[in-house]
Amino acid sequence: MRPDLHTHTNLSDGSLSPAELVERALEKGITHLAITDHDTAKAYRFLPTTDLTIIPGIELSTRWMKIGIHVVGLNLDLSHPAIQAGIESQQQARLERAEQIGMRLKKLGMPNLFPAATQIAGDGTIGRPHFARALVEHGHSKDMSAAFRKYLGNGKAGDVRHVWPSLTKVIHWIRESGGTAVLAHPAHYKLTATKLRELVLDFCAAGGEALEVVNGSQRPDVTKKLAELSNDHELSASCGSDFHNPDRRWSELGQFPTLPAGVTPVWKQWNTITPFA
Ligand code: AMP
Ligand code: MN
Ligand code: MN
Ligand code: MN
Repeated sequence: MRPDLHTHTNLSDGSLSPAELVERALEKGITHLAITDHDTAKAYRFLPTTDLTIIPGIELSTRWMKIGIHVVGLNLDLSHPAIQAGIESQQQARLERAEQIGMRLKKLGMPNLFPAATQIAGDGTIGRPHFARALVEHGHSKDMSAAFRKYLGNGKAGDVRHVWPSLTKVIHWIRESGGTAVLAHPAHYKLTATKLRELVLDFCAAGGEALEVVNGSQRPDVTKKLAELSNDHELSASCGSDFHNPDRRWSELGQFPTLPAGVTPVWKQWNTITPFA
């Protein structure tokens, strides 16, 4: 079995269509694929028939102690009213946030980039990467990473987080819909060990069941720490590339270390895979 349980399409901030993603997954020898677009499940409407086992998924934006935290929902019933209502309010929050990002950047002396970012997003759910591209196209940043460093990253003008719901709320949507809530890329938040434990404790108390022990091409010492953390809190372990596009070499589809021995893979708790159709 070769799973990749964290991937994106052009229905959020990735570049491949669902069909292209599935084709690439087959090329890379993946057997189980979860598409986990940011706050949308639209990709599941455009899936081709395939031999690949598709596991329904989503990546939801939340807020915990004013920090933006991502929770991946796996093997959930995407047609359940709880997740449907959740997606609806996340879409509203993203739109509101995008308008605010546009206004905040305008205060820094640029034109309002909301229309440009909207156009770049196309059918995809709008997010900061679309603003990053707009900033590059309008000559305000030399590349996406410079745009994040100066305007959109943690604590910068375009980092608007207050629109996101609580961790608890989001975990409820996932669990109500029969899914497993996974704390996404725990090492990305740059928390101290103490703070990370606090987050994990709150995540468990809210009904979270798994930790993303492997995310992309991650350092072995990080994986080891996260494996320990998952076992300490009796959380199962998930793994995924966080693939967005073929240019991001460090997060190629299916390219990540296997889960370390001693953790409980998240799929062990699934008796069946929920159909998405
Ligand atoms: P959002 O979901 O709108 O808050 O945007 C967050 C997304 O931006 C992440 O899922 C990444 O895909 C992307 N991202 C975050 N940091 C960077 C960066 N430094 N350079 C390029 N993309 C980034
Ligand atoms: Mn993303
Ligand atoms: Mn994420
Ligand atoms: Mn992701």
